[in-house]
Amino acid sequence: RTEISPEALTTMAMSDWVLAPLLLPLRENANRNRSTWLQYCPLCLGEDESPYFRRQWRLASRISCFVHGCGLRDRCPACRSAIAVFDQRDLVPQHFCVRCGFDLRTARKVSVKGGARRLERAIADIFRVELARSPTTESSTAVRDVVSRVLRASAATDDSLAMSLTSLASMARIRWFEQLAGEPLDWLVADKDAAVTHRRWSILAAGGQDRLVACFADFLDKCQARPRSRRLIRRGAGGIGLADLLAAYRRVAGDRSSSKLHRDL
Ligand SMILES: [Zn+2]
Ligand SMILES: [Zn+2]
Repeated sequence: RTEISPEALTTMAMSDWVLAPLLLPLRENANRNRSTWLQYCPLCLGEDESPYFRRQWRLASRISCFVHGCGLRDRCPACRSAIAVFDQRDLVPQHFCVRCGFDLRTARKVSVKGGARRLERAIADIFRVELARSPTTESSTAVRDVVSRVLRASAATDDSLAMSLTSLASMARIRWFEQLAGEPLDWLVADKDAAVTHRRWSILAAGGQDRLVACFADFLDKCQARPRSRRLIRRGAGGIGLADLLAAYRRVAGDRSSSKLHRDL
C-alpha cells in the first residue's frame, strides 16, 4: 500500500542496527529516573513541517540535539508520561502527548553543559568514522567494541545506580555525560591499534569530527596562505570523510614532523 519495497522497509528498521544495544527499551511503566522508549527535541519538532521523531533519539548515547544544542526530553512536561506515539487513539499529529494532548513543541529547553555535548558528539562521530571505514565485519566489530565500552563505562561510573545507560532517564544521562566529560577518557579511545587510538583522540580533542575538519580547514588556510577552498565551503564539514581529510592533511603536511602536525590538529 505504501509502494515501498520490503527491502527498503527493512533498511528503515532498527533491529539489525549495529548500534541496537544502545536503543532505549520499551516499558509498560517508567518511574522518574528510568529511561523511556523515545526522546525528542521540542525545537526540531517545532521546525518540522510534519513533525517526526528521529532515529538517533532512540539511542541512550544521545542526550542533546546537534542542531539546537539543547538537551533531549523523554517525557511530556505536563503529565510526565513517556512518549508513546504508537499509542494514539485518534488520528492526530505525533507531537501531541498521547495521554494529555500537550503540544510537545512548546516544551521548555533543557540545558546541557558544553563539555557533555562535545563528548556526546565525539562518541557519535567515533561511531560514524568506524562505520564509514568500510562496511566490513572488522568495522562492525570496532563499533560493537565502542558500544560496549560506552555501556560498561556507565555501569562503572555510578555504582549506586548500578544501571546501564539504557536504563537511565534523559536527565540522569545528561548528568552522567557532564560528570564523565571532566574525567580521563582512555576507556573510550585506547585501542591496540595506535592509529585508531590517535584518530579517536583527534576527534575527542576537537569535540567531534566536524570541529576537527574546521580546525583542519583553518590549518590549510595558514599553510597555503590563501582563502579556504570553495570545495570545503560548498560541501561543508559534514561532507568530507575522515579519510579524505587525513589524505589531504598528509599532502599539505609534506615533510613536517608528525608531532608538530598533531599539535596543530
Ligand atoms: Zn533540535
Ligand atoms: Zn502529557
